[in-house]
Amino acid sequence: MNKVLLAVSAHPDDIEFSSGGTMFKFKELGYDIYFIVATNGENGFKIDHKPKTQRIKTRHKEQLRAAEILGVKKVFFLNYKDCLLKNDDKLRKQIALIIKKVKPEIIFSFDPANRSFESVNLLHRDHRVISEAVFDAVFAARNRYLIPGKPFAVKTFWFFGCNKPNHYENITKYINDKIKLISAHRSQFSEHESMSEWVKTHLSSYTGKYKYSEKFRIVTITQPFVKEGIGTV
Ligand SMILES: [Zn+2]
Repeated sequence: MNKVLLAVSAHPDDIEFSSGGTMFKFKELGYDIYFIVATNGENGFKIDHKPKTQRIKTRHKEQLRAAEILGVKKVFFLNYKDCLLKNDDKLRKQIALIIKKVKPEIIFSFDPANRSFESVNLLHRDHRVISEAVFDAVFAARNRYLIPGKPFAVKTFWFFGCNKPNHYENITKYINDKIKLISAHRSQFSEHESMSEWVKTHLSSYTGKYKYSEKFRIVTITQPFVKEGIGTV
């Protein structure tokens, strides 16, 4: 088994808010963690409003700081414009090539099945786009004809931002680590105390089983008619 995890976000901070505690758990299990951040997130800025180039610089810096705290091996910045992401051949190919390069057993991203449109933040256009692009890239990476290079089959999706979770990860032990990760994204909240309260309130509301949890829809990717080990379709 490849102890490699790839987390794909639309914006700097998506992974930390949705799955930061779970990332620490995988890190402790010995996983190599890689991030893809599709857009520069320049239109989400809560403090010290600055020109665009500086906002981009700040968001990259914050993402790299969070990655450092978690011990991420590498952050792949795709540098798309915030709010203008498109699920096209270019994006799908970029993600598929990174999948082939880092060979993740597990992929984290937004849940493409959540189209509830109950929250303008959660169902942000870029979140919807990246969710489908990642799903399509996983198919493309395991196919031997679509993308150059040896095919690679990811085993499991851990979808965050889901409205029908099938798994709650107990992150009670990691709540302060998660808040520290989010704190690296200083441009995203006006006041630390209220951010921390907001995070704790949300994470304690998902299930009565644990004090703090993160929620996911885990999907095992099956390979019908193909023998385990032979690999690709
Ligand atoms: Zn986002």
